[in-house]
Amino acid sequence: MKALDELTFDNRFARLGDAFSTHVLPEPIAAPRLVVASPAAMALLDLDPAEAETPVFAELFGGHKLWAEAEPRAMVYSGHQFGSYNPQLGDGRGLLLGEVYNEAGEHWDLHLKGAGQTPYSRMGDGRAVLRSSIREFLASEALHALNIPTTRALCVIGSDTPVWREKQERAAMVLRLSPSHVRFGHFEFFYYTKRPEQQKELGEHVLAMHFPHCLEQPEPYLAMFREIVERNAELIAKWQAYGFCHGVMNTDNMSILGITFDFGPFAFLDDFDAHFICNHSDDQGRYSFSNQVPIGQWNLSALAQALTPFISVEALRETLGLYLPLFQAHYLDLMRRRLGFTTAEDDDQKLLEQLLQLMQNSGVDYSLFFRRLGDESPEQAISRLRDDFVDIKGFDAWGERYIARVTREGEADQALRRERMHAVNPLYILRNYLAQKAIDAAESGDYSEVRRLHAVLSNPFEEQPGMESYAERPPEWGKHLEISCSS
Ligand code: AMP
Ligand code: MG
Repeated sequence: MKALDELTFDNRFARLGDAFSTHVLPEPIAAPRLVVASPAAMALLDLDPAEAETPVFAELFGGHKLWAEAEPRAMVYSGHQFGSYNPQLGDGRGLLLGEVYNEAGEHWDLHLKGAGQTPYSRMGDGRAVLRSSIREFLASEALHALNIPTTRALCVIGSDTPVWREKQERAAMVLRLSPSHVRFGHFEFFYYTKRPEQQKELGEHVLAMHFPHCLEQPEPYLAMFREIVERNAELIAKWQAYGFCHGVMNTDNMSILGITFDFGPFAFLDDFDAHFICNHSDDQGRYSFSNQVPIGQWNLSALAQALTPFISVEALRETLGLYLPLFQAHYLDLMRRRLGFTTAEDDDQKLLEQLLQLMQNSGVDYSLFFRRLGDESPEQAISRLRDDFVDIKGFDAWGERYIARVTREGEADQALRRERMHAVNPLYILRNYLAQKAIDAAESGDYSEVRRLHAVLSNPFEEQPGMESYAERPPEWGKHLEISCSS
């Protein structure tokens, strides 16, 4: 276990130089204080969890202090936003503080979000509000606990610094951890600004740091692109399987590591709704829940375009063709497990689609349905769940097919089935209303609810005594919360 001043830095991205990022110092927030820290994320840096309670912790992650070895930089990138190319983006309110190596030899970028203005701030104030920082923190750690690849969050630091959004709010900072902060938009920036040398430098950096095994392949860039396609297909399969809606799948919010990146107006589904739009500003529903699948491919094509200096168009096209079949295979595999199947049958896809249609028509709670399906024997579960469906006859017919399907697997041990299903079907989900309750309390200075919710979500598959209320469907007020991009 290390103390805060014992971290080992090696800032390789900063050394790429000024064409890739700009030196900027964090602008401190007033009266910095710990809102919440993640002991599991601290462990990634070998940090003693007790360090979070020290005054220097809030000073470091509130922008007041810096390690001598840190080299804070704002990265430049561009990207496609809602389908249109924006030639100039970049870290407008976040800084890569430095890169830390842990004792296992793993590499973690320390990125401080809400650290003040940079050359890429455009009209923005460089700040993040408490509400959005808490949402990013909770989502990162909740997704990780669900085994969904994501950036991590070390802590949220609150402050007295006022910031203006629709109303006056308080500034906060969130410390994000990721093995890399390189986005699809990084490659797009050097491609569209016609800087092949620098694009090659970026490519070589990314290959060496994050895809070293691809360097042994005859075409390293192609091998890397293939892996990016595979990882994103798997990531989006997990989003769809667990009802996670990202909300702003612009190419500047897509990680080359295929991990969930940049949290804005995201939401987990409460009622199942394939057409759900979590981003209040997404009028056309470009990033609706079911559109995430084709948008994943669209984004990979945008990356492919930027990689044409390195890879033939034919090879790029062929590799892009892997995305949908890979997505489908992963998704079906996950959903079979959520349904409690241990084998594969040809009709499983149809059985799943019929279920989702019934859930859609009746507005059935997506997460709780699967959890309850594993609570009891298939017969008992179906007879209990049928009351949630408007089309009871339709659900009964589905239930008969489901029971027959389970019976064909010949599993007699209900306890084993329950254990297996509960291990993939979470009881606790970061529902928007739960986040909102924690945010409301935090905005009035009480951080206990954020901490409690974080603890519950860190262990989503296990029933936690006394925490029943966190597993409930949203109350009426919490069903259709409007979350905007403004954060
Ligand atoms: P996002 O919607 O958070 O992915 O941000 C899109 C772009 O806007 C990124 O380049 C951000 O750095 C920038 N940005 C977002 N909010 C702010 C802000 N308050 N101040 C400056 N830049 C911002
Ligand atoms: Mg972003």
